[in-house]
Amino acid sequence: MTDSVVVREVGMRDGLQSIGSLMSTDDKKEWIERSVAAGLREMEVCSFVPEKYLPQFKDAAEVASYAGGRAGLVGVALVPNLRGARRALESGIDKIVCITSATESFSRANLRRSKADSLAEINEIVALRDQVAASGRRVLIQVGISVCFGCPFEGSVDDDAVCSAAQASAAAGADEIGLADTAGYGEPQQVGRIFRRLASELPHVPLAAHFHDTRGLGLANVLAALQAGVRSFDASLAGLGGCPNSPGATGNVATEDLVFMLEAMGFDTGIDLEQLLDVRRFLSAALPDVQMAGHIAAVGLPKGFIRQ
Ligand code: ZN
Repeated sequence: MTDSVVVREVGMRDGLQSIGSLMSTDDKKEWIERSVAAGLREMEVCSFVPEKYLPQFKDAAEVASYAGGRAGLVGVALVPNLRGARRALESGIDKIVCITSATESFSRANLRRSKADSLAEINEIVALRDQVAASGRRVLIQVGISVCFGCPFEGSVDDDAVCSAAQASAAAGADEIGLADTAGYGEPQQVGRIFRRLASELPHVPLAAHFHDTRGLGLANVLAALQAGVRSFDASLAGLGGCPNSPGATGNVATEDLVFMLEAMGFDTGIDLEQLLDVRRFLSAALPDVQMAGHIAAVGLPKGFIRQ
């Protein structure tokens, strides 16, 4: 088992889509540059949704093209449907994330279609990707499964529902599968149990985890997934995110806190924490009206902390 862990910065997509403030295209590019300099190797930079739904991503094609062309970085874009996938594939992005859901209710609310229909569309996206790959480079496809550990509409979610969604995603041709705790309902026992089961059911598909820190269990859930063998985690700088309609809601696990935990445990993230904290200062200046979360930035690194 490798001791290196991929930390995927998703603040530019998951964080920005949840806050009211718009970020300029230039600031997004600078955030990308500073992140690469700090050692980040993978960033989800936009969502290819219609501008009328999320004006934050009206520059999706430009930002995706910038990230996709950046040496040393895997640029990632979220695509809600085939139309978005087509735009993403044209942009020069390196990886796309397609979405399905562990529950029927969330699928209909979030994607306005059934789970079966979302999987059928992922099949079409994979076929389109294969067609594009035949004439050029192969863009990777991650299937992200929403509400794996609890659903705001249905409450608890059966392990079987998560595993069958993952099986279907693998059958559709996913290069990797990400389990998301979209609503922050997950707890570590459940997280460990589901990832261990999937690792044995789908031994050849890399698994990734996407935790929100809504109820304070984000890093505990990371640890459980880590112990189950997961080596790719999403996080957003300063825990950027939350929801303008629910005060107190928080975003993803804070990138800097996650990197601190992993490095303190002896894993190699390739990320320079001091530089990452500089990126956070840049972000804070770029979004002056947005509240920044995270522990390490508030109190600093422990005395004598040595990057392993
Ligand atoms: Zn999320």
